[in-house]
Amino acid sequence: MATQTSVPPTDILDVAAATADFSGFRQQLQQELREQESLIAELKPRAAPHLDVVAWSTTQAALRIVVQINAALARISAGTFGTCTSCHGQIKKERLEVIPYAARCVPCQS
Ligand SMILES: [Zn+2]
Repeated sequence: MATQTSVPPTDILDVAAATADFSGFRQQLQQELREQESLIAELKPRAAPHLDVVAWSTTQAALRIVVQINAALARISAGTFGTCTSCHGQIKKERLEVIPYAARCVPCQS
C-alpha cells in the first residue's frame, strides 16, 4: 500500500505565518482529538446514564474536550492561540504544554 505524506498546499499557505510557532501544539491537539474521538466511538454503545454511568460521564467529558480542542485549532488558524479569551493576556507556555486547548490563563480560569 502506498503511503501519502503530502500536506494540502493550501493549508500551508493559509496558516503558515500564524502557526509557525505553534506547529507542535497543533500536532499535539490533532493527536489528542483523534484519541478523544476514538474513546467516544468506543464508549458510544453503552454511554447512557441507565446503561453505564462511567462510560456516559467519560463520554460527556471527552465531548467537552473535543469542543475545546476544535476551538484551540481555530485559534491557531486565527493567530490568537495562546491568548487568554477573557483578559487577552498571554497564557503561560507551561500551562499550554499541560493543557494545549486551554482557552484562559490560570487567574481567569480559577
Ligand atoms: Zn486571563
